[in-house]
Amino acid sequence: MNKLYKTLIYDRQVSLSVLETTELVNDAVRIHGLDESSAKTLGGFLTACAYMAGCLKSDRGAVSLTVKADGDSGSVCVSGDKDLHIRGYIDGNCGGRINGGYLTVIKEDGFFRPFVGASELVGDDVSRNLMQYYDMSEQVPTAIAIGVKMKDGKCVSAGGVVLQLLPGTSQENMDRAEERMQAFVNIADVMEKYGADGIMSEFFGDVTEKQYIYLTFPEYKCNCSREKMKKILLPLGKEELYGIIEEQGAVKIHCHYCNTEHIFTKEQIDEL
Ligand SMILES: [Zn+2]
Repeated sequence: MNKLYKTLIYDRQVSLSVLETTELVNDAVRIHGLDESSAKTLGGFLTACAYMAGCLKSDRGAVSLTVKADGDSGSVCVSGDKDLHIRGYIDGNCGGRINGGYLTVIKEDGFFRPFVGASELVGDDVSRNLMQYYDMSEQVPTAIAIGVKMKDGKCVSAGGVVLQLLPGTSQENMDRAEERMQAFVNIADVMEKYGADGIMSEFFGDVTEKQYIYLTFPEYKCNCSREKMKKILLPLGKEELYGIIEEQGAVKIHCHYCNTEHIFTKEQIDEL
């Protein structure tokens, strides 16, 4: 089961998140038919997105991460909402490579305007790119270990540990956080061995206050629907829609997030 633990540790000066996202990644593998390296990259960003969605405050909050890499490297798009419904896709021809380009984050969190941040990509590693983003764009000291382990085309373990320093964190607790993160250099292996529950008890059992531990459950879920698709179709107008039907037999809209083709026949267009 996918899990997201959130709590404060080290005198409540450091926010801790532990994510287990193996199922989330396997859902993505199944929906998109991903090769292993694409699964690692997309899975990493889905995990990152689950973390960021878990930080949203507004009930209608949403977050999206978009990677546009240069040249023959690919693009990645993930998004999630306050309910921790996470979805995404990756350019299938890039073999998971995302070199040279930008990561853009858009957060809508109940404020008048969405927050938009961006940072330059620093290689294929999702954790490094995320840390770079927090450093450059949000200027919050954040240590991130996100990993995905694949075997025989399936994800055997995926997840992450994120420590974020709150304003006023003492030097001593900064050092503790830094030292603790060393345990998660190979986070996918650690996750495979302990799971999120085990990581919480084994590595943080003595520094959390149990009553402040929040456990939520991210899942792979697309928010597309025929109703939403109708709203996209309507502004196209009668002429355009009937034109498409004449040419292609039906109006088809493909949702990249869940790889679903929404088909509207002539009769269904008549009803619109
Ligand atoms: Zn969809």
